[in-house]
Amino acid sequence: MIAKPKVAIAWLGSCGGCDEAVVDLNEALLQVTDAADVIFWPIALDYKYHHIEALRDGEIALSIVNGHVRNSEQEEVAKLIRKKSQLVLAFGACACFGGTPGLANLRTKEDILNWVYRDAPTVINPKGCYPQTRSQVNGKELTLPEFYERVYALNQVIDVDYYLPGCPPPPDLIASALKAVLEDKLPPRGSTLAPQKALCDTCKRNATKPARIAIKDIKRIHEVDANPDVCFLEQGILCLGPAIRGGCGEACININIPCRGCFGPVEGVEDSGAKFLSALAAILDVEDDGEMRELIERIDDPAGYLYRFSLPVSILGSKRIQES
Ligand code: SF4
Ligand code: SF4
Repeated sequence: MIAKPKVAIAWLGSCGGCDEAVVDLNEALLQVTDAADVIFWPIALDYKYHHIEALRDGEIALSIVNGHVRNSEQEEVAKLIRKKSQLVLAFGACACFGGTPGLANLRTKEDILNWVYRDAPTVINPKGCYPQTRSQVNGKELTLPEFYERVYALNQVIDVDYYLPGCPPPPDLIASALKAVLEDKLPPRGSTLAPQKALCDTCKRNATKPARIAIKDIKRIHEVDANPDVCFLEQGILCLGPAIRGGCGEACININIPCRGCFGPVEGVEDSGAKFLSALAAILDVEDDGEMRELIERIDDPAGYLYRFSLPVSILGSKRIQES
């Protein structure tokens, strides 16, 4: 009997939504398990790290890794998986770009620990205890992973072969990525297994854009009754579609929510926030710098808005790097 290729599904700093997306393949998941042996999937099955350590280097045909890296355990698992795998697929916005947890890079490690263990109104911590990587309890040593200074995307820690973005990735792209692996029909290494077009190119509202959009006011989605048939930008609502890769199936647009960027930069663009800012600058209808400043100040939390899923891989990177 010919051995089936081995597949691992690992999670690092993850909410579990990416694993849930794999489960959401439903019957298609059975085709995957027919064609491959899932030898590691901590969220679904009782596998331990030593099962991976016992494998030969490169014995896993494909590892699907979701979540960001923020502590020493996540880094260790990422490196172990890399060593044992022929291919590593960064799965989901957190693995591809750092994801929403990457917004923590706007704060220092110290800020975060102080808030969580001292300052948050719900904290009761009379002894002022903070987590320690090593501590003695009843003569025994307890260890915890080290909490790092910042959040990293997967490719900032290990080499990544392919990327599948989304928060989480949609089932059609997951199924086609797995099919490409199993049939050995993958594009060149380093590719993103999603369309190369910008979201605007596939959005049905694109046809409602006038030849030239001119925004006189910036509105937030909850402040208006948005027309579900008209381009958000035309309505003065910031939608990141011009700078973001398509392929999500317009899941947010279809429920009348503007694109927030979980598919990351469109092909060939390094920094989706900078790309969107340049597109925005071209459509603001202002007379002078004062009006421009007033309009830009209408964007509440610009870093959070423009880099909700991609701060760790952006030019900005993190507040700490900028300050040092
Ligand atoms: S990409 Fe989204 S769904 Fe996946 S782990 Fe990150 S936050 Fe969760
Ligand atoms: S800006 Fe948003 S709403 Fe307008 S066409 Fe692009 S994706 Fe669609």
